[in-house]
Amino acid sequence: MKAWEANIRKVTPYVPGEQPKDSNVIKLNTNENPYPPSPKVKEILANVDNLRKYPDPEVVKLREALAKFHGFDTSEVFVGVGSDDVLANAFLTFFNGDKPVLFPDITYSFYDVWANLYNIPYEQPALNDDFRIVKEDYYKPNGGVVIANPNAPTAIGESVDFIKDILDHNQESVVIVDEAYVDFGGETALCLVKDYENLLVVRTFSKSRSLAGMRIGYAIANKALIAALNDIKQSINSYTMTSATIEVAVASVLDNDYFNEHVKKIIDTREWFSKEMRELGFSFADSSANFIFAKHNKANAADIFNAAKTKGIYVRYFNKPRINNYLRITIGTDEEMRSFIDFIKDYLTTAGC
Ligand code: PMP
Repeated sequence: MKAWEANIRKVTPYVPGEQPKDSNVIKLNTNENPYPPSPKVKEILANVDNLRKYPDPEVVKLREALAKFHGFDTSEVFVGVGSDDVLANAFLTFFNGDKPVLFPDITYSFYDVWANLYNIPYEQPALNDDFRIVKEDYYKPNGGVVIANPNAPTAIGESVDFIKDILDHNQESVVIVDEAYVDFGGETALCLVKDYENLLVVRTFSKSRSLAGMRIGYAIANKALIAALNDIKQSINSYTMTSATIEVAVASVLDNDYFNEHVKKIIDTREWFSKEMRELGFSFADSSANFIFAKHNKANAADIFNAAKTKGIYVRYFNKPRINNYLRITIGTDEEMRSFIDFIKDYLTTAGC
């Protein structure tokens, strides 16, 4: 080993879902929205100006728009380059104690990557056999709590009362609620922010606002938490969001009709698709997200995953304990989900299932 090699930080990175080069595939593997963003976004991009200058490091225009939209003060909003950026900053800012940070064994698989990166001790209480979070597991002393609600990849949403109970038992550490999928039917914890000064709610534009490609995320919390986050962010990179991104995000927030209409479309598609999948022998909890997490009563998930891929249909498969016979299938357009159903019917007949 060369001397300098000993100084290299070794990490096991997060592995995102595949982004195939072929644009003809039916892509149901990374929970993207199948519809384009608001037409206002295109107008903005066609007229982007002033790229010569640095963007506003405080991102006031977008924070104001989000504050108004959700009924908060601008000082209670933090923005970042996707919610991954917001969450990474939050782990770095809030989890500096000796006690373990708690998050479920089955949840967004970036949490343990950040914990390892920042040398944060953590424990992962097991979801129960129905893949529900056992709230009593979060009643012990800890260095922080992270709950994705709805959870991923299970798609199961917990109630506001459930989150409130976790907060009532955790007054001494920061509780992060990751609401990446909340707009598709979850219950938001935003109403608890005023009462719980240790609650940070994290949101993204990537799913319900069809803007995964622009990388926009935000957090809402009391202003002391937001100020602490800002100090960390300004100690790494002042200009994380581009001027164009800021304008696009504001345009998206202002076009509420488009947002509501397209979220509803996905929910409607999810409901008929779920019904048909159950009739074909899949079982899964009701989804509060833009995906389902399903297993078949006879066919093997890895085999279905591989067979679907050869037909140009990408879904997500995690070769991990407890979930290695499940598929996470993003809700696309009606046409895309119809193609998936046609594929699976053929597959099950051929496989004799
Ligand atoms: N949280 C959860 C639970 C997610 O599934 C994702 C998407 N991979 C993210 C956060 C991050 O999304 P983004 O960085 O695109 O906002």
